[in-house]
Amino acid sequence: MISSQPSCTDIFEQGLMPVKQALKQILAATPTLAEYQLINIEYAKGRTLAQAIVAPFNVPRHNNSAVDGYGCHATDIPVDGIATLTIVDIAYAGKPCVTHIESGQCVRIMTGAIIPENLDVVIMQEHVEVTDNIISIDHRHQQGQNIRLAGEDIQQHETVLQPGQFITPADIGLLASLGFAEIKVRRKLKIAIASTGNEVISIGDTHSRQKIYDSNRYILYAALQRPDIEIINLGILEDEPEALLKQFKQSSLYADIIISSGGVSVGDADYTKTALKQSGNVDFWKIAIKPGRPLAFGTIGQSLFFGLPGNPVAVMVTFYQFVLPAIEQMLGIKNKAINPQMQLKTTENIRKKPGRTEVVRGIMHQDDAGVWQVKTTGKQGSGILRSMSLANAFIILEHERSSVKAGEMVTVQPFSGLF
Ligand code: AMP
Ligand code: MG
Repeated sequence: MISSQPSCTDIFEQGLMPVKQALKQILAATPTLAEYQLINIEYAKGRTLAQAIVAPFNVPRHNNSAVDGYGCHATDIPVDGIATLTIVDIAYAGKPCVTHIESGQCVRIMTGAIIPENLDVVIMQEHVEVTDNIISIDHRHQQGQNIRLAGEDIQQHETVLQPGQFITPADIGLLASLGFAEIKVRRKLKIAIASTGNEVISIGDTHSRQKIYDSNRYILYAALQRPDIEIINLGILEDEPEALLKQFKQSSLYADIIISSGGVSVGDADYTKTALKQSGNVDFWKIAIKPGRPLAFGTIGQSLFFGLPGNPVAVMVTFYQFVLPAIEQMLGIKNKAINPQMQLKTTENIRKKPGRTEVVRGIMHQDDAGVWQVKTTGKQGSGILRSMSLANAFIILEHERSSVKAGEMVTVQPFSGLF
């Protein structure tokens, strides 16, 4: 072998940093935002809670009926045969009855209506016979039946949400049920994005054969469009060290994170490297991952800096494997189930060499019995962006793993969740 510089195809190269170690170092250097803001719960979806939510009262507040039926004394349920009870009042949800109910009496009661104080069973309307204001009941009923107890959902003073909760529609429903109109959330994360490369042009610029359209910035822009992020678009930066450094330093005055793509691999025009080495705290790593091996990481001023590879697929892989976990840590997001991984059976053989993590573009699909399984999108070259667009999940083949046979379980990271 003649080449002294490692290339992307040279997988036997020594000294590559394992993915786990890279992630560990990134997270160790990533702070969590301290600042918060107050927002109305209507706008809280996808934000991160910055306070604990303590229930000011029981939910439900009162014992109430789970069905439409008749509220009775359990002591009036006959041991056998039939008992008759007199209907003395009607309780609606939001309009309770006030009558004191004697033994031998009952109330017509609707779903959600407060149970009169001394009643302890609701009999479904389907289980009674009604003649005028008299109902007949048999023995098949038990004390407590069809009653939702006060505090059954939430007890007063209970902490229902912890700081760090990534807020979902269900959480917003919970907050509303407790009467919270405003909550404290972590402020938005400010992220600056840039593309580098003299060959890269913006959509709309005159295309020539030497130039390529910038897809990375559009990928990052789309991936970062979330309620908890404010994007600062720095455009395309020329491969010119002074200009790059100046732009990054300026951005670090207001951005929490700066993400650039291109110019981190081994190549004569990789000026980001020169510029960033001058700026101090940026390391250039070769990570044992395919695709996406070169990665620059560190700090510029107050900002965290990620220099992603140039290839669009590598950008996506490194963004989701390294940048997203850092974003979640900066936002202090604690409920990790928002970004789940699972084990699914692969329906295909997948070639793999041990000694690096391979992130394969996969398609989750259902077999005839409805069971979810996964296959690859086919060709996996890091220049093939179409493979990302065809995929609905990453198949993550761990560092030590070798080739996988059809029928084996593999780690799958779906692109979309429920929220
Ligand atoms: P680099 O790491 O700068 O050598 O880039 C690696 C490859 O990715 C080259 O083929 C670049 O032309 C390509 N590339 C770099 N930046 C972009 C971009 N913003 N959009 C699409 N392709 C890019
Ligand atoms: Mg370049």
